Amino acid sequence: MEIERHEYDVVVIGAGGAGLRAAIEARQQGKRTAIVCKSLFGKAHTVMAEGGAAAAMGNVNPSDNWMVHFRDTMRGGKFLNNWRMAELHAKEAPDRVWELEAWGALFDRTKDGKISQRNFGGHEYPRLAHVGDRTGLELIRTLQQRVVALQQEDEKLHGDPEAFIKVFQECTITRLLKDGDAISGAFGYWRENGRLIVFDAPAVVLATGGIGKSYVVTSNSWEYTGDGHALALLAGAKLINMEFIQFHPTGMVWPPSVRGILVTESVRGDGGVLKNSEGKRFMFDYIPEVFKDKYATTEEEADRWYTDQANNRRPPELLPRDEVARAINSEVKAGRGSPQGGVYLDVSTRLPAAEIIRRLPSMHHQFKELADVDITKEPMQVGPTCHYIMGGVEVDADTGAADVPGLFAAGEVSGGMHGSNRLGGNSLSDLLVFGRRAGAGAASYVDGLASRPKISEESVTEARAEALAPLERSGENPYDVHHELQRTMNELVGIIRKAEEVTDALEAVEKLKERARGVGAAGTRIYNPGWHLALDLRNMLLVSECVAKAALLRQESRGGHTRDDFPSMSAEWRAKILVCALTPDGSGVTVEEKAQPPMRDDLITLFDRDELKKYITDEELAAFDALAK
Ligand code: FAD
Repeated sequence: MEIERHEYDVVVIGAGGAGLRAAIEARQQGKRTAIVCKSLFGKAHTVMAEGGAAAAMGNVNPSDNWMVHFRDTMRGGKFLNNWRMAELHAKEAPDRVWELEAWGALFDRTKDGKISQRNFGGHEYPRLAHVGDRTGLELIRTLQQRVVALQQEDEKLHGDPEAFIKVFQECTITRLLKDGDAISGAFGYWRENGRLIVFDAPAVVLATGGIGKSYVVTSNSWEYTGDGHALALLAGAKLINMEFIQFHPTGMVWPPSVRGILVTESVRGDGGVLKNSEGKRFMFDYIPEVFKDKYATTEEEADRWYTDQANNRRPPELLPRDEVARAINSEVKAGRGSPQGGVYLDVSTRLPAAEIIRRLPSMHHQFKELADVDITKEPMQVGPTCHYIMGGVEVDADTGAADVPGLFAAGEVSGGMHGSNRLGGNSLSDLLVFGRRAGAGAASYVDGLASRPKISEESVTEARAEALAPLERSGENPYDVHHELQRTMNELVGIIRKAEEVTDALEAVEKLKERARGVGAAGTRIYNPGWHLALDLRNMLLVSECVAKAALLRQESRGGHTRDDFPSMSAEWRAKILVCALTPDGSGVTVEEKAQPPMRDDLITLFDRDELKKYITDEELAAFDALAK
C-alpha cells in the first residue's frame, strides 16, 4: 500500500493546550505547520482540566505577583524544579491568560469585572483563572477558535484555509525520523483505516501529554500511553525526573468501572473537607514539618481562612497533592477508610446546594451519573489516582529544544518545570507559556537551517515494518500484557515504593518486554484497537522502565516519589537529577545522576534562609550566606 506523504516546516504532535499553542506560534511566525493528534481534534486531557490556570494576576488578592508564584512552585516541587522554567512560567502566565481572553475566552469574573481567581493547593493566594469547573474546555475551545481564525486568514491570503496550518486527527505517530543527528520528520498511521503516513519536516514539537495508562487506577484516558516520552528516547533525547509521578489524592473509588476518574481539587478549594470512617477531619495530623507555619492547626482557624485569608492559615486539605495523597493512603491502610477503600470528601455540609451546583457543576453531574451520589446531600468517596507525570523530555527552558537538533517538547511530555511535584493549576499555565516558547523555538530553528534534512527510505521501511509487525504474527493478546504491566506498576511502583518491590517490578517489565515483542493483533488495519494497543505497548514499557529504574536509584522521599525504606528528603539528593537515555542497542534504558545547576542569585535570594535550610546542602547554604553578606 502507498504511503501518504506531506511536507511541513513544523510538525506538532498533540493537540492539547501545549500542542495548539505551539502550532499557533509556529504559524504566526510564518511556518507551514501540521498538528497531528491520536484522538479527535478537541479531545485531549487539556479539555478535562477542571480547576483552572494558575497565573499571578493579583485580581482577587493584590499581594500576588510572579515572585510569590515562583516561590510556591519551587516549594510545591520541593526545590527540584528547573528554576529557569519556574521563573519564566511565573512571569509569563498572566500574559498568556490575558492573550486567551483577547482570543475570546470567557473566564468567570470578580464582582468588579476582572478575571476571577480561585484558591488551590499550594498556592498562597487565589490564583487560578477559571470557567466554573470546565476551564480546560474553554482553553481548548479558544485555541481551536484561534486556529480557525488563522485558517480564515490563510484562505483570504492564499485561497486555501489549510495552506499554513492543517490538522491531522485520529492519526498516531509511531517513530520520529532522522537525517544523521537531526530530525527529518515523523512516521505514523491513520487510526481509522491503518493507512501509513510520513511527514517530512525539519522540526517536530512533542506535545503528547502523559503516561497514566501504565497504571490501573488513573485519571488518564486511553491516549496517554507515554508516546512522546518514548518517541523522544528512541530519537536519542533524554528524559529527566521520571521517578516523580503525581497521584492525585481524589479520584473516584466507586463503582469499579469509573475508579480513578478525577474529583477536582476545586472541591477542597471551595470548602470541601476530608474525613475518615470515624468522622475525623484527619488532615490536621499530616502537616509536614516544612509546611507547619503555613497551615492551620485547628478546624476553627481553617474554616475562618475561607473568609479571612489575611489573618488565618490555610486548611491542611489544601496541602500539595503528594502530601494529601499519602495521608489518604495512610488512613485507608490504618483501617479508617470508607467501605469502598477510600475516604470521605464532603462538601454537602459546607455549602448550600445551589452554590455547590453553581461552583461545581461537572462534579455534581459526574457523581449523579456515574455513582448515583448527590454531592449536595452526601459525601463522595475518594482515593489516590495516577494523574500526572512530572518527568519528561529534558529541554532548554527558553526554547523547548531537546538535545536532538530539530526536536522540541512542551507541556506534560516535557520535564523540569514542576520538579518533584506539580501544583494544581500550574499545568494549564505551563502549556500556554512553554507551548508558545516551543513553537517559537521550532520556528527559529527552521529559519537557521542551511539545508533541509532528508528522510531516508531505509528509515521509512524500518518504521513501516515495525508498525505492521503485530498484524503479521499470531502472538499473545496485547491486552493481557497491558493488564499485567498496569498491575505491576500500580502495585510495585505506586504511591509508596520499596527497593525490593521496585526490583521485582523491573524483572517483571523485562519479561513483559519479551512478551510484547511477540504480541499479535488479529484482524485487518481497519479500525483495529488491538493493533493500536500492540504498538502503544512499546511506549508504555519504555516509560515504565524509566520510572522504575529512576525510582530505585533515588534513595529519598520527595514530592511524587515516596520510598518506604528512605522516608525523608535528602539535601544531597535534591542537588541531583536523574537522566534516562536509551541503551546503545536500543533494548532498554539507562539512568544516570546529573548535578542540578545552582539557582541564579536574584532568584535564590527571594527565599528566607530558614526555609532554604530545609532543602539545600550545607555547601549551598554557605554560598547563600556569602551572597547575603
Ligand atoms: P494533552 O492535553 O494531554 O494532549 C495530548 C495530545 O497528544 C492529544 O491530542 C493526544 O491525542 C496527542 N497524542 C498523544 N500521543 C500521540 C501520538 N503518538 N501521535 C499523535 N498524537 C498523540 N491541570 C491544570 O493545570 N489544572 C487543572 O484543573 C487540571 N485538571 C485535570 C483534570 C484531569 C481529569 C486530568 C487528566 C488532568 C488535569 N490537569 C489539570 C492536567 C492537565 O490537564 C494536563 O497535564 C495537560 O492538559 C496536558 O496538556 P498537554 O497539552 O501536554 O497534553
